[in-house]
Amino acid sequence: MRHQAAEAGLKTAALYVVATPLGNLGDIGARALEVLRGVDAVACEDTRHTRRLLDHYGIRAETFSLHEHNEAAATARLLRLLHEGCTLALVSDAGTPAVSDPGARAVAAVRAAGFEVIPVPGPNAAVAALSASGLTDPHFLFYGFLPAKEAARRKALAALKALPCTLVFYEAPHRIEETVADLAAELEPQRTLVIARELTKLFESIVSLPLAEASSWLAADENRRRGEFVLAVSAPPPVEGVPVEAERVLELLLAELPLKQAVKLAAGISGISKNSLYDLALEKKGTP
Ligand code: SAM
Repeated sequence: MRHQAAEAGLKTAALYVVATPLGNLGDIGARALEVLRGVDAVACEDTRHTRRLLDHYGIRAETFSLHEHNEAAATARLLRLLHEGCTLALVSDAGTPAVSDPGARAVAAVRAAGFEVIPVPGPNAAVAALSASGLTDPHFLFYGFLPAKEAARRKALAALKALPCTLVFYEAPHRIEETVADLAAELEPQRTLVIARELTKLFESIVSLPLAEASSWLAADENRRRGEFVLAVSAPPPVEGVPVEAERVLELLLAELPLKQAVKLAAGISGISKNSLYDLALEKKGTP
C-alpha cells in the first residue's frame, strides 16, 4: 500500500472519519475531498456505492469493505494498516459513519489502540431534517431506528413520551406506516410530526402535521411512503398553560395574520393544542 498521506498534508497512522452526501453528490466539503484523495485507503460500508462518489470526483483511492457483518475482521485490518503507518478514511454509504451506521466499534478499537481518530464532519440526515423542520424546541433527542417489532417499539416510545424535547427517528420505507401508527398511538396526538423524506434527492419532501393526522396522510398516496425517512416529533405539550416560546410564536403570527390562521400555524409549529392557543389569542386581541 502506498504511504502518500504525509505528502497530502494529512496525519500519518491516523483514521479520518469522513461524512459523505445523503444523496446529492454536491454535498461534500473541500476537506473531505482532500482527505479522500490523500489517504492510503478508504474503508467503505459498500465499496461499489463509495466508488461512484470517488469516481465522480476523479479520486482513485484504494478501498476495502467495513460493514455490519465484517466489522471485527475489517477492524483488525484497519489496525494492522495503522500499525504499518498508513493513513485511512472511514466512510459509510450516506451521511456520517458510526451514526446509525457501521463504524462505531472500529472507531472504539482504533482509539483504544492509541491511534488518532479525526472527524471530517458533513451530512447527517437527522440534523438536515431538524434544520428544515421548523420545530422550535431548544433540545432534541436523536434515537435513530426504533425496534422493528411492534411490542418493543411501543415500549421504547412509552419510555420516550415524557421527555421535554423533540424526538428524532430514522425509518425505512417498509416500516414507515407501522412506526407512524405507533407514534400516534403512544404519543400525544397534537404533537407535530415532521416527515422528512429523500433529503437532498429528487423527490425530497418535508411535511409537518399533527400526529393524529399522519397515518391517513401517509395512506392517501403511496409515493408518500417511498424512500428514506427522518421522523421528528415535537416535544410534549405542557401539562397546563402555554410555554413562553409558543406564546411568542403566537404573538408574531397574530401581528401578521387573522386570528384563526395565526392559531392554526402556532399550533402546528409549537405542538400546543389549538384550544389553548385560541383562548390566549382572544386574550391578546382583547376579545372577550
Ligand atoms: N449515518 C447516516 C446519517 O448520518 O444520517 C444514517 C445512516 S442510516 C443506516 C440510514 C437512515 O438514515 C435511513 O433509513 C433514513 O432513516 C436516514 N436517511 C439517510 N439518508 C436519508 C435521506 N436522504 N433522507 C431522509 N432520511 C435519510
